[in-house]
Amino acid sequence: MSKFLKSEFAGLKEYTPGEQPRDKKYVKLNTNESPFHPSKKALELAIAEAENSNLYPDPECKLLKEAIADNMGVNLDNIFIGNGSDEVLSFSFMAFFSGLPVIFPEISYGFYKVYAQLYGCKSVFAPLKTDFSIDINDYIAKNSHIVIANPNAPTGMLLALNDIEEIIKSNPDKIVIIDEAYIDFGGKSAVPLVKKYDNLIVSRTFSKSRSLAGARLGFAVADAAIIRDLEKIKFSTNPYNINRTTLALGLGAIKDTAYFDECCAKIIKNRTYTALQLKKLGFTMTDSYANFIFAKHPDISGEELYLALKEKGVLVRHFTDPKITDYNRITIGTREETDILIAKISEILEEQK
Ligand code: PMP
Repeated sequence: MSKFLKSEFAGLKEYTPGEQPRDKKYVKLNTNESPFHPSKKALELAIAEAENSNLYPDPECKLLKEAIADNMGVNLDNIFIGNGSDEVLSFSFMAFFSGLPVIFPEISYGFYKVYAQLYGCKSVFAPLKTDFSIDINDYIAKNSHIVIANPNAPTGMLLALNDIEEIIKSNPDKIVIIDEAYIDFGGKSAVPLVKKYDNLIVSRTFSKSRSLAGARLGFAVADAAIIRDLEKIKFSTNPYNINRTTLALGLGAIKDTAYFDECCAKIIKNRTYTALQLKKLGFTMTDSYANFIFAKHPDISGEELYLALKEKGVLVRHFTDPKITDYNRITIGTREETDILIAKISEILEEQK
């Protein structure tokens, strides 16, 4: 730390992203990326657009906003576009959270507590039930803002839409963010509720179901007044937050619904297959609606399995939080990647004996 860092940031505990090692080629099942290439139509648009990179991109992101609004069944003024949904979340915390605390599940996406600390807002951690499910009573009529990932991460467990609506309805003067990074893999989106509730922000990403993690693209769907506030923050920090090639990739991806449907269907099918293979090996797991499985084995600790798999060229995500340290979060890749994963786990369990 330099002597110049503002004192308020001295104790900031930053987010640790999943590892992205470059030492060798891994079967990479640790950061919930899509195993499939981006839409070919998106790539064509982006390659053509890269030629215009001497010019700034459209700060209004108008074409992409129109396409997303159309896809989501809302109006243009209900869409905010961010540099990844991380930026959507960051701007939302910056714009709306101070004074009142923010409540979120004790086990959830690790960035929430970082943003809360960064923007000077107190975090309240709501415990999960023993099966890792969320108790909605912790979020009904609260004196705090609310953030819930649905499906939750890293458990993949889903809250029913009517439970989500109860939470939003009972907190009309608080902001409720529903982070739907993984909603395309089997959940029901809260986007239609934006028309009914002016306190709801639905956060979405192109990183998972649309194969664009490397392009950095996410968006919020919310009441027009909320969107104007997020635009105010963006135009006060980085008006050109989305580069030209990413705008083009996003436009191509959102319009290529056939490819999107195909990729999501393959992931859902392979999730069922992977879960079955892991169960055959003795694993237990949560009921995941996301593009990952959260699993543990009675004969090997989460950390040992993670390390042994890494040694054998397969990366999964292990968390050190004692409540979940027995588990690993395993991204659903291709069928071939699953077969390698299962073969390596079988070897490791065999070597254990
Ligand atoms: N929310 C959740 C629950 C996530 O797991 C992630 C991915 N790490 C994000 C948001 C952020 O995704 P991105 O910035 O790539 O859109």
